[in-house]
Amino acid sequence: MPFSTLSDIQSRLNGGEITAVEVAQLYLDRIEAHNESLNAFVYMDRAHVIAQAEASDAYRAQHEPRLLEGLPIAVKDIFCTQDGPTRCCSSILEGFDAPYDAHVITRLKEAGAVLVGKTNMDEFAMGSSTETSAFGVCRNPWDVSRIPGGSSGGSASAVAAALTPAALGTDTGGSIRQPASLCGITGLKPTYGRVSRRGIIAFASSLDQAGPMTRSVRDAAMLTEAMVGHDAGDATSVADAPIVSWLAACDKTDMKGLKIGKPKEYFVDGMDAGVRAEVEAALKQCEALGAEIVDISLPHTEYAVAAYYVIAPSEASANLSRYDGVRFGHRCDAPDDLLDMYTRSRDEGFGTEVKRRILTGAYALSSGYYDAYYLKAQKVRTLIQQDFMQAFEQVDIIATPTSPVTAFQVGEKTDDPLTMYLSDIFTLAVNLAGLPGLSQPCGMTAGLPVGLQWIAPAWREDLLLNAASAYESATAWSDLAPEAFAVKGDKV
Ligand code: GLN
Repeated sequence: MPFSTLSDIQSRLNGGEITAVEVAQLYLDRIEAHNESLNAFVYMDRAHVIAQAEASDAYRAQHEPRLLEGLPIAVKDIFCTQDGPTRCCSSILEGFDAPYDAHVITRLKEAGAVLVGKTNMDEFAMGSSTETSAFGVCRNPWDVSRIPGGSSGGSASAVAAALTPAALGTDTGGSIRQPASLCGITGLKPTYGRVSRRGIIAFASSLDQAGPMTRSVRDAAMLTEAMVGHDAGDATSVADAPIVSWLAACDKTDMKGLKIGKPKEYFVDGMDAGVRAEVEAALKQCEALGAEIVDISLPHTEYAVAAYYVIAPSEASANLSRYDGVRFGHRCDAPDDLLDMYTRSRDEGFGTEVKRRILTGAYALSSGYYDAYYLKAQKVRTLIQQDFMQAFEQVDIIATPTSPVTAFQVGEKTDDPLTMYLSDIFTLAVNLAGLPGLSQPCGMTAGLPVGLQWIAPAWREDLLLNAASAYESATAWSDLAPEAFAVKGDKV
């Protein structure tokens, strides 16, 4: 049961084989048994989870079940929730009590989900390893000496170890797809504007987007369906977004007629040979399913890391100016005056990586440097968008590795921010272009999962789901589970 998909659990609930309370108890027990070794959850309130499950069972007794009726879902600590704390895994939000639920949290509640708790993440979602969290390092269930990826590492670790069947993450430069890849699960970043950002703590507002992290493609579709929709409270939420038939898009079992672009810039020397071999093998499998693989080029890819690491910190430096010790969270003791309160509160509250981003961003936006850095990076962003638009004139969809490496050791890259930034090389361009992307498991190398990334034109999440479902139906990678967390006799 614990390694079941949301869809499996849903059919058992619908068939009356099990109640929402029993499902909740099972996962709560697993969180209590395993969280110490993984540090995937930073908040969980057992009584409150059981109360939600009881309410769902009571609802089911009277009404038709809703889309996520009784299904346990964990959420990254970046989502504002009225129940329990919201800290974005930063000391600066210590004691902060969100006054309202994020739009997507409201949506999940309206769909009947049981929210099981908050998951660990890099502080303010800045990172690729979940090592910058104020609550300590999160671990990868495939090898607890390794990182789960980041910044939604807690959600990925929790789903991979079946402490919850599904979770929400956010993705500014890869933070859903990269940890999904490193933990062997599925993660979907919707088109920018598809999901409301209201109540999601802002990192880089022109890039941030929330999405699901799950054990199957269908589960990702189901959860996205519950999350999407226009919200007048977010100016970038698109009112007339093309509608996708989320679940129907997962019925594909072949790839007949599908043209898949294989960009040469994503298959380069320097990437892990095992990752490359597994992704090449996955593309062969796609050919066997009827797809045509077309070699393409996305020529400005090499500038994506530089452009992202100017644009994202610039936006972050503006967004994080609100943490001033006055309105939110931490305030220093006995300030001498107002300026001392601002500087000391911020100095004490923010961690090193967050400070590095604020400084980089403030520098790139400052007069005299704005044209050379920020404006230039925005121009590069346009070129990257155009690369994709040209590619989509030739192909329906693009396939790449999600990450150039598998899960690395805890501490391996913490002293070298540039090496850490380079681990995002295959995911950042998708955010810069505002496109939807999906990562799904496609192999194992040296005992660690490898992820296949699909990239589609804007609003064509249906194409991601078509391709990923067909691939999933022909392979068994999504069924694998880390042995140390598996249950004897269970489906692993
Ligand atoms: N790893 C990237 C960064 O550190 C992306 C983070 C994210 O997507 N939130 O900025």
